[in-house]
Amino acid sequence: MEILIQGKEVADYQLKLKKSPQALEAEILGADLCCSCGGCLGLCPYFKIRHEKVALLEPCGLSEGRCYDICPRTETDFAELNRQVFGQERRDYVLGTLRAVLMSQSRDSSVKKAAQYGGTVSALLIQAFEDKAIDGAILARTSERYPLLPEPFLARNAGDVLLARGSKYTACPSLAILDESLRQCEKLAVVARPCQALAIRKRQAIEPKLQDRIALVLGLFCMWALDYRDLVKHLKNHLDLHTARKFDIPYNRFVVYTKSGPCELDFEPIRHLRRHTCDICYDFTSELADLSVGSTEWKDKWNTLIVRSDQGQVVLDAALSAGTLAVKNLPQDRVELLRTASLNKKKRVLAGLSHSGAYLKLDPQEFNWVTSQA
Ligand SMILES: Cc1cc2nc3c(=O)[nH]c(=O)nc-3n(C[C@H](O)[C@H](O)[C@H](O)COP(=O)(O)OP(=O)(O)OC[C@H]3O[C@@H](n4cnc5c(N)ncnc54)[C@H](O)[C@@H]3O)c2cc1C
Repeated sequence: MEILIQGKEVADYQLKLKKSPQALEAEILGADLCCSCGGCLGLCPYFKIRHEKVALLEPCGLSEGRCYDICPRTETDFAELNRQVFGQERRDYVLGTLRAVLMSQSRDSSVKKAAQYGGTVSALLIQAFEDKAIDGAILARTSERYPLLPEPFLARNAGDVLLARGSKYTACPSLAILDESLRQCEKLAVVARPCQALAIRKRQAIEPKLQDRIALVLGLFCMWALDYRDLVKHLKNHLDLHTARKFDIPYNRFVVYTKSGPCELDFEPIRHLRRHTCDICYDFTSELADLSVGSTEWKDKWNTLIVRSDQGQVVLDAALSAGTLAVKNLPQDRVELLRTASLNKKKRVLAGLSHSGAYLKLDPQEFNWVTSQA
């Protein structure tokens, strides 16, 4: 089959791994490698989730499943996916395919005030809704029932976007509503952790018709996500969870903003609550997204913004011409710090995986380059 991405022909490619849901259960769910992206949940009623733990309730009888193909933790040909998404080889082995590394912030003070940092993600989504570039966006909203539990949320208009503002540092299974959202909407945006951006691209690789329907992947930087149950247990010893309004993880710190003010907790025990599966994630900056957004770890009310694809550029240009986003170049010393953080994660991951990178198929040149960096 020939696949057209952003107008360029790319190689005939199928990501069909020809394995069953039971194999997914044995190799990924049972091995505690699930990253709770939610990708399998929307595809199949046999998968269920409770508090971010996914389980296959009973065998579905299929010998091959899309659930296996799209899982970010099953065999992944990172180089080929990159070719498919961007129509080019990966040249930057540290930050992935990109056109620019910027810093950005919303120019709407109410967005900036409500958002995690500069409100870049919210501002871009609001603009995309207003321009009718999208009619739905999959976001993560805090549960009204369970304190701190993020839940997938389908925003249908600009007004909905701020309902799901702010970072939830556990692994929201947002993609659980992907299929239902595709039934309701023509053009979707998805705010994705790196594992979720990967799951989306794997899904688009086996279902090319989704390349237009999922019109925008806004990737978040993510070093790791915390385990929900362990986090709640830990936090209950320190504060009343119902008073928590916002969380932040500035460099090596953990701050909870409560009704009565900020409360800083010892970072080291928190770091140990990260999900095991994040230790094998090769991607810090959502390298397969159209636009990637993170903190600057320097200026609180700004974001780092990486522009990657044609589609990302179009959405950014629209926000710039509407005057809803401010951007400037990220200073070179900050770019170098970002590169160091990303490279260190990749080196840690490859050192922990077997020689081939286990589930990860990298170009040998990339593997050799990353593992040889001092
Ligand atoms: C688990 C996690 C780990 C992160 N780790 C880092 C890091 O190590 N370094 C770094 O620089 N940045 C990290 N970030 C990204 C950072 O916290 C901000 O989300 C990002 O900078 C966007 O900021 P903003 O001001 O544009 O946010 P906003 O405009 O407030 O938008 C944030 C958007 O993210 C969505 N969202 C929130 N939580 C989740 C979630 N769990 N899964 C999917 N979508 C979600 C919200 O629905 C909202 O649309 C992490 C984010 C998450 C969720």
